[in-house]
Amino acid sequence: MKRVGIIGWRGMVGSVLLERMRAERDFDRMEPVFFSTTQAGSAGPRLQRASAPVGDARDIGALARMDILVSCQGSDYTTEVYPKLRAAGWSGYWIDAAKTLRMNDDAVIVLDPVNLPLIRRALARGIRNFIGGNCTVSCMLMGMHGLFEHDLVEWMTCATYQAASGGGAQHMRELLTQFGLLNAEVRDLLADPAAAILEIDRRVLAKQTGGTLPMENFGGVPLAGNLIPWIDRDLGNGMSLEEWKGGAETNRILGRGAGFAAAATPIESLCVRVGAMRCHSQALTIKLRKDLPLEEIAGILASANEWVHVVPNERERSMRELTPAAVTGRLHIPVGRLRKLSIGGEYLAAFTVGDQLLWGAAEPLRRMLRILLECGSTHGEEPAPERASTVNA
Ligand code: NAP
Repeated sequence: MKRVGIIGWRGMVGSVLLERMRAERDFDRMEPVFFSTTQAGSAGPRLQRASAPVGDARDIGALARMDILVSCQGSDYTTEVYPKLRAAGWSGYWIDAAKTLRMNDDAVIVLDPVNLPLIRRALARGIRNFIGGNCTVSCMLMGMHGLFEHDLVEWMTCATYQAASGGGAQHMRELLTQFGLLNAEVRDLLADPAAAILEIDRRVLAKQTGGTLPMENFGGVPLAGNLIPWIDRDLGNGMSLEEWKGGAETNRILGRGAGFAAAATPIESLCVRVGAMRCHSQALTIKLRKDLPLEEIAGILASANEWVHVVPNERERSMRELTPAAVTGRLHIPVGRLRKLSIGGEYLAAFTVGDQLLWGAAEPLRRMLRILLECGSTHGEEPAPERASTVNA
């Protein structure tokens, strides 16, 4: 059995990954070893069978004894530890949720329902780094898969509505604490039906702007009752790093742009953090290469993969099925609000929501691990197509 080291299993992505691995009985196919930067020596997570005590995630010797390493620890960790491992001669497979290695020549961004052929070609070439994509990009691609598969997208813009959990466990806690403190500030007024709404509003605003809410994780501004129209680093050209990833990573996953035979598809984003707990949503404007009937477009989208689910563009269905609360913890990707824009028949509006901790993070990593375990090699042997394509969902 392959020895698989799992790092970052206590965090948001890692916890969801473990949950999915338990559900799919992935642990039956490997010898898992858990690592932590802070909990070395403690008992590992509860599994059906016993596992060794948690190892030190900075012990290069211990990590190098693994055939496969799966990291959900974050980009600082990858930047620190990954080069040391390769420098020590480790030649195993590295599967990672962090952005650090995504654009490297010796890495592939994995989203196998969309790019399994690209993954298989990379394995055959001896590539050993398989990196999960940006959460928003992966969720969008699972929804829009059909349009890209049929080469129907001339360009696309994405306005994102990204949940607190996109930042990790501490961000979720901070958002909930902020909500609680805002509520506490006006609890007496809320209990009184006659209380003036403007007084409630004034007190909430005073609390939001008074500097007493915990705001370390969201860069010193409140998210509760608010939104933040900037995610990740400032690239200095009017674009955030999160927005740059929308174009760069989408094309790389699809095998388009620099280094590939097909030209890049222009994709522009405006990324916004909202006070949802989990799930990233996106409003899309798509310029199609041709003016197809809406029904045909819906059919193309719905048949692209087994997780996408087209929601009719109706008020009740949209409000019930196309929301973070309806999608959290579920693998399906609803796509709705489909309509042609008044500017022309080639212009399509769409809205999609995905659990960014599942398809946006844990699931592509889990499925990549399964592909490696099922291909039975740690030395770049290509998996048999039928085995790779039967990876469980
Ligand atoms: P996270 O929740 O902040 O967890 C990262 C690490 O923080 C854990 O592995 C754990 O490491 C440590 N930690 C410290 N205090 C903790 C606590 N109270 N509870 C749990 N863990 C604690 O980060 P994440 O959101 O999982 O993200 C990990 C990586 O995945 C990042 O590179 C991120 O960019 C990427 N990613 C995240 C998402 C998302 O939606 N969150 C989506 C796609 C990709 P030790 O065991 O070593 O202490």
